[in-house]
Amino acid sequence: MYTVDFNLNKLIRKNIANLTPYSSARDEFSGSASVYLDANENPFDNGVNRYPDPLQRVLKSRLSELKGVPADQMILGNGSDEVIDLLFRAFCEPNQGNVIICTPTYGMYEVAANVNAVTIKEVLLDDDFQPDVDAVLKACDSNTRMLILCSPNNPTANVYEEERIQFLLNNFKGIVMLDEAYIDFAPGKTFTQKLIEYPNLVILQTLSKAWGMAGIRLGIGMASKAIVEILNRIKPPYNVNVLSQQKALELLKQEELYSSQVNTILEERGKLIDFLKKLNCVERVYATDSNFVLVKVSSAPELYEYLQTDGIIIRDRSKVVKLENCVRISIGTLEENQNLMQKLIAYDTLKL
Ligand SMILES: *Cc1c(COP(=O)(O)O)cnc(C)c1O
Repeated sequence: MYTVDFNLNKLIRKNIANLTPYSSARDEFSGSASVYLDANENPFDNGVNRYPDPLQRVLKSRLSELKGVPADQMILGNGSDEVIDLLFRAFCEPNQGNVIICTPTYGMYEVAANVNAVTIKEVLLDDDFQPDVDAVLKACDSNTRMLILCSPNNPTANVYEEERIQFLLNNFKGIVMLDEAYIDFAPGKTFTQKLIEYPNLVILQTLSKAWGMAGIRLGIGMASKAIVEILNRIKPPYNVNVLSQQKALELLKQEELYSSQVNTILEERGKLIDFLKKLNCVERVYATDSNFVLVKVSSAPELYEYLQTDGIIIRDRSKVVKLENCVRISIGTLEENQNLMQKLIAYDTLKL
């Protein structure tokens, strides 16, 4: 099934391939003992006086249960943003390599590329906001190291068709980074069970959205053991702090709360979409598989301004290519959404 000639050794940056990673006290002894005098920590217990587990083993074992992916195929980062940066550092040669993104998409990919002196090649999504697979393959050259796909995509809100993602996995010779930050809102659409088939696939998920933990910064990368091992070698040794690991474990136990919140958000999303479609100022509500909607209105800057004066902040995306007069609205609580809808009625009446 897998058709491309994928060679991880050829993709990894030379200096990274040759790197001797930092070996911390907790790397050199990871068993349990009664007296730890190896890390120059303060010995007096205040709950955070010890360094965290560099490999976050307890947390990964819980995530492994939830995601159905083995713990040794996971890397955790200080937000997905850190995992994105690690991928650039591991696989893209500065001032030489390039990566392909399908625009409009999440702005962080371009920033990470710029920080790492890697060229971004933009291939426009088609009119249904699906990746144009032929154009993507045509844009590749011998220095293209990574293809970044975001599904469900931010800010267009839709999932990419399975056949298209699969076609790209089968035909692109570099790393395919598939960002599934919003996958909890698109049941049945994850590619995690396909990790076994594709040695070039790296899936990103996050605890920042559906799991409600944006404040503790925890991103999840899932890939082959070989890729995870490379990323582990270059990550800062203690990149996920003790408090974040503890809080994540605590909240990841509350599976029912998580499910009921996701369901509420999906119900509220349906109500908001029905409401928006009736407004005169709304030209189009795009299909969504996420916890937000993309809406084309008569004037995005004007609507943004109007709502802002009333204390409601949405995202004006009208300057983005293909998103003329579009705003992005996150689904809030029942009360927040009602508040928004009231203000939208007032705005719409003004426009008549
Ligand atoms: C919000 C978001 C993330 C999450 O980033 P974190 O650093 O994990 O908070 C990742 N990708 C996309 C497309 C997002 O919209």
